[in-house]
Amino acid sequence: MKFLIVGCGISGITLARKLAENSHQVTVIDAKDHIGGNCFDYFNQEGICVHQYGTHIFHTDNEIAWRFLSRFTQWYPYQHEVKALVDGQLVPIPFNFNTIEQLFPAEMANRLINSLLSEFPFNKKVPILKLRESHSKDLQFLAEYVYEKVFLHYTEKQWGVKPEDLDPLVTGRVPVFIGRDNRYFQAKYQGIPLQGYTAMFEKMLDHQNITVSLNTKFDKNMIKDFDHCYYSGPIDEYFDYELGQLPYRSLRFEFLTFNRPYFQSHSVVNYPNNYDFTRIGEYKYFLDTQCGSTVVSYEYPEVFTLGENERYYPIINCENKCLYQKYLDLAKGSDKLTFLGRLGDYKYYDMDQAVARAIDLLNDSPSA
Ligand code: UDP
Repeated sequence: MKFLIVGCGISGITLARKLAENSHQVTVIDAKDHIGGNCFDYFNQEGICVHQYGTHIFHTDNEIAWRFLSRFTQWYPYQHEVKALVDGQLVPIPFNFNTIEQLFPAEMANRLINSLLSEFPFNKKVPILKLRESHSKDLQFLAEYVYEKVFLHYTEKQWGVKPEDLDPLVTGRVPVFIGRDNRYFQAKYQGIPLQGYTAMFEKMLDHQNITVSLNTKFDKNMIKDFDHCYYSGPIDEYFDYELGQLPYRSLRFEFLTFNRPYFQSHSVVNYPNNYDFTRIGEYKYFLDTQCGSTVVSYEYPEVFTLGENERYYPIINCENKCLYQKYLDLAKGSDKLTFLGRLGDYKYYDMDQAVARAIDLLNDSPSA
């Protein structure tokens, strides 16, 4: 069969490869001038792999997604750790026992840790909104502290609303950790593609049944030349916004290069408070590149405005999910069309979830 895939990001590329390996003819188009969507990276003159759309760290418990991508790349065994500037100190995030001991006097820290352990199992993750429901006086104190110092202002900057006005899954991504693991993710598989994400995508697309057309805008007339269209662009855009726009948050990155070996102590430092940016990423850490200069990006959240900036995050709440569902109902009119990806599914997918979704789609559709 002949397939059109709109969008050459991680979802579209995964799907393209799978279809091509099933002997189908696949055309992938993208309006941008590069492959990889927002996972695109490139090596600068000093050999630092810079993620053009902000830091991307691959992590998954999904064996199938990990094995699939591992056919196209080796991995640098990077385990992500994040620090946040809280009360003048750089402390581990997710907030854990080490963070508590760094921020509070020893006796108080002990009491808080014991209170956590009396209410929650060791090495478990507790979303901040859940911790705030505790009836223990100590834990109420701790929850308010963490809420105020780590989540409230970061979330207001990032999303323009308070944590409790978002789907709980959003702040639940960075829980309080009942233990001493300083890693940002506890997933079984973690890593950075050794030659970068773009090189991994190039290998995935390198198949005789795949044709890629960059700088190519989608037009509905294209569909008639194909048996099926997989659309990983924004679903509301596909329907010319006839039910209104689905809201997104955007980001603006300010990239700086410094002529010194390192800028900060970790690849990512969060600034929940005080500044307009939310975090600073330093790219050489991801592949442990040794060189005399360093590249960092300051990350400034913004409202997404059509035609002015890029979509980064769907804003998941009841109202927006409902609007998305209405668009999906419109899509039911066509059996030649399937949506996928962060923009097509309007879901806050991590990279591994986008890969898994594309693979699942084919498993669910026997002819493909
Ligand atoms: N978050 C926060 N403070 C932090 C880190 C995260 O409030 O120091 C909240 C914030 O709402 C953020 C969400 O947790 O949008 C998810 O964070 P994550 O790092 O997973 O976001 P991503 O890397 O996808 O931008």
